[in-house]
Amino acid sequence: MSSISISENLKRLGISTENNGTSTGLDFFSSGKAIESYSPVDGNLIASVKTSDKQDYEKVVAKAEQAYLEFRKIPAPKRGDLVRQFGNKLREYKEDLGKLVSYEMGKSLQEGLGEVQEMIDICDFAVGLSRQLHGYTMHSERPGHRMYEQYHPLGIVGVISAFNFPVAVWSWNAALAWICGNVVIWKPSEKTPLCAIACQNIFNEVAKENDLPEGISNLVIADHEIGDQLVNDKKIALVSFTGSTRVGRIVGKNVAERFGKSILELGGNNAIIITENADINMSIIGAVFGAVGTAGQRCTSTRRLIIHESVYDEVKNRLVKAYGQLKIGNPLDETNHVGPLIDKAAVKQYQDSIEKCKAEGGNFIVEGGVLEGDNYNSGCYVKPCIAEVENSYEIVQHETFAPILYLIKYKTLDEAIAIQNDVPQGLSSAIMTQNLREAELFLSHAGSDCGIANVNIGTSGAEIGGAFGGEKETGGGRESGSDVWKYYMRRQTNTINYTTNLPLAQGIKFDL
Ligand code: NAD
Repeated sequence: MSSISISENLKRLGISTENNGTSTGLDFFSSGKAIESYSPVDGNLIASVKTSDKQDYEKVVAKAEQAYLEFRKIPAPKRGDLVRQFGNKLREYKEDLGKLVSYEMGKSLQEGLGEVQEMIDICDFAVGLSRQLHGYTMHSERPGHRMYEQYHPLGIVGVISAFNFPVAVWSWNAALAWICGNVVIWKPSEKTPLCAIACQNIFNEVAKENDLPEGISNLVIADHEIGDQLVNDKKIALVSFTGSTRVGRIVGKNVAERFGKSILELGGNNAIIITENADINMSIIGAVFGAVGTAGQRCTSTRRLIIHESVYDEVKNRLVKAYGQLKIGNPLDETNHVGPLIDKAAVKQYQDSIEKCKAEGGNFIVEGGVLEGDNYNSGCYVKPCIAEVENSYEIVQHETFAPILYLIKYKTLDEAIAIQNDVPQGLSSAIMTQNLREAELFLSHAGSDCGIANVNIGTSGAEIGGAFGGEKETGGGRESGSDVWKYYMRRQTNTINYTTNLPLAQGIKFDL
């Protein structure tokens, strides 16, 4: 693989790697040990980044608390204007940031650029929303009284994010949190620190141009110990956590213990039902993109295909053919379809899952394996594979963050829906059908139990306009569009008496 140059992009994003590869982009509050960011694309060290330790974290919180006192005074539409400016900066830096996302995380360049586009889209959405933080008014039962409800900011919003969407998830949270009047402390995945530094640097430009106090957007580059500190910190009013169900279970419990608020966006185990009435061409495109896009490392990746027995062989044969045409390699080369996994630990999990699946009786119709050779020096490139399985296998019930696709055969739609729902997770789901009755049943109360249910679209690639998130072990949280902003505010009911009497509610008399 020819060497990939990212240094010019990093420089434009304010990240210098001159001191023996040490990032000097963000020296602020980072006296902890250094972590090294290697690219899964070519295995090269991109930079080492100093982390924040426990004392640094406390300093960041103190700064955020101060900033909040000022920031909450700025009217919401003016805060919206700051987010508009941030969105415009992202437009300027889209190419540089998209390339860094691709190189540091390993997703395709198109997906890296798409992630930055999602950031721009949520900023646009948040700008409009900043004039629409509406509450209800209601009629009081008492004469001369007025009742209404309003929404106030929460304070500090903590965002803990996963490696697979290293920039977009933060922006979904931050853009809404800001227009609602909150300040944000972000602890990104330690696997993608440079993407986070780049985002912080871009925001800092807006802050400087508008004479904003420091502390509206804060970054803490650190491992899970500081994540845990943040989760247990009473000063963090809302913790928005995106990551595995394993960690989310701990985060949810600890935040609830201190009566904090949380948004949990955890693992998925997403399925597409392909019925006897499906458009098979569309089904194949949706299934292949959903299963191998981002090398199967999307929370919404398609992990299971539940296929009607009458079209099973046709779908299976066409999938085998399509997988035979997949090009695996450098994700910055747009002719490749599949890039690397994030690191060697992820490769090991992929291999272990294949072994477990075989041990349980899985029949691999497209074999997996780790790729070797000049184009695959990082050791992180794997072959997307397909296995025929039973839904009850322990490994099928589990989210493996890799391109392994499971095929399951069904006879009736009720049976297919039961299979689709019979996993612990409840994030995304889809049905491929041209039959209205099948589609409506799937979307009904008796249908999919997921937070996202699609018709004739695959499981991945949600738009920011809708509320995003899932049920059961996916955590129940919602991010992004619709009325999700309410998570980032506290609700207050107000009653005003404009008479000279004090009538009590429920007709109660209290004569003195
Ligand atoms: P992960 O759970 O290993 O890590 C996520 C974040 O949690 C990281 O920043 C990590 O440092 C931090 N962390 C780890 N232990 C912690 C602790 N005890 N306290 C506080 N923070 C802690 O997840 P990952 O491997 O980075 O990401 C992949 C997972 O994320 C998959 O399960 C995927 O489905 C999920 N995900 C879900 C969504 C969604 O919206 N539902 C979106 C993206 C990713």
